[in-house]
Amino acid sequence: MTTAVAPSTPLSALDRCDRCGAQAYLRVELQSGGELLFCAHHAREHGEKLKEIAVNVVDETHKLAGGPSEAATTES
Ligand SMILES: [Zn+2]
Repeated sequence: MTTAVAPSTPLSALDRCDRCGAQAYLRVELQSGGELLFCAHHAREHGEKLKEIAVNVVDETHKLAGGPSEAATTES
């Protein structure tokens, strides 16, 4: 198992929205070198404008699309 350093690190549960503190699903890397994190809600609210000024956007909001729970439901 390797721990290669990717150009864009995937978001984790430790990444928090800068606006509300919820788990972040959007990372916006700015031309200034800074970065912003947003939850799905604020990604929708600010995402379009942010993408205009961003050099890179990591959008993981699709992780929410299938439903909020990834809990194991193997029982039938
Ligand atoms: Zn938020």
